[in-house]
Amino acid sequence: SHNSIDPSLMDVYAKNHFPLCMRNIHENFRATHTLKYDCRLQYGFFCKGIGLSYEDCVKYWRDEFTKAMEHREFQKKYGYTIKHNYGKVGGKINYIPFNCTKIISANVGIGQQHGCPFKVWDNGYLKQKLTEYGFGPQVVTEIVNHAKEGNYQMACSAYFEYMHGRPSKEVINHPNQYFEESFNYEH
Ligand code: SF4
Repeated sequence: SHNSIDPSLMDVYAKNHFPLCMRNIHENFRATHTLKYDCRLQYGFFCKGIGLSYEDCVKYWRDEFTKAMEHREFQKKYGYTIKHNYGKVGGKINYIPFNCTKIISANVGIGQQHGCPFKVWDNGYLKQKLTEYGFGPQVVTEIVNHAKEGNYQMACSAYFEYMHGRPSKEVINHPNQYFEESFNYEH
């Protein structure tokens, strides 16, 4: 990718440039030091798509996972997954990051963090998180109303608009589209 991604800035990117689905996974990764299977795919491919290199992905995951496990265990459990995500083993497939349609249609159980938060989260929790993130009551109401109506990508586009002080060029239909427009505007 053409983006110059600094793996030490993932917290900053998540806050400023990730759509809510990916920001949520990143924040949960930081809080729990683990990524469940579906997150390893949804988030792993996204990160690869924004331009995080294989080596930097290993470092990012290792630094976080090893807060709760030994290096050897990390290597054994997740070393292969990262290689696989980057097409370095197995069928050497160049995996394409999931689009919104795929993410929105995912089955998400209790305690799982993948999927689209505008669909998965109940209205109360969505309202609470958006307020924590610093959105004012009017904006929160607008975003929650889109989500209530099942217009998840409209909710995401409104989130983009209020994060950036301007609308996205098109309705958000891919988390990597969200990132590219956000990141390239500032870099
Ligand atoms: Fe992610 Fe797409 Fe949902 Fe936005 S609309 S949070 S990019 S899945």
